[in-house]
Amino acid sequence: MTLHSIPAPERKYRVAGHPDLRVAILDVGLACCALEVGAAITAGLLVPEGSVDTGPATSEVSVLLISGTVTDALAPAVIRAWGALAEPRLAVSFGACANTGGPYWDAPTVTKGIDQLIPISVYIPGCPPRPEALIAGLARLASTDGPCQSERGDESP
Ligand code: SF4
Repeated sequence: MTLHSIPAPERKYRVAGHPDLRVAILDVGLACCALEVGAAITAGLLVPEGSVDTGPATSEVSVLLISGTVTDALAPAVIRAWGALAEPRLAVSFGACANTGGPYWDAPTVTKGIDQLIPISVYIPGCPPRPEALIAGLARLASTDGPCQSERGDESP
């Protein structure tokens, strides 16, 4: 994502182990944690809507998914992405960098947590979190309507 861009429109996925849940994800992947989001798709934990016959979903959640290191220069683009997501919407902070600045928390240009920018409903810890932690966090979203919850993850790389 560049300073002036907004990510591509959200994509819809079914969530493994939660057959009634569909998530429309606007994915803001900024650093290495974004690879774990891709790994969740590759591993079949997030299944692109329409790729298989999954039947009707009874629950759908629009999600802004922030993974990776947010810098103060990128902050306006993150805010624009949040604004571009249709209501009702929820935001997930994926990984230590998005949660707090992570290993770069003391860098002057790194945002110390995206909850300084937008309301977060689920925080997923780890550097990086495992793809399974993303799935657990998305499933948690379906049962929440506001900030803030933490989804336990593997803190080790
Ligand atoms: S939390 Fe760790 S793995 Fe994730 S973006 Fe930051 S440095 Fe990379």
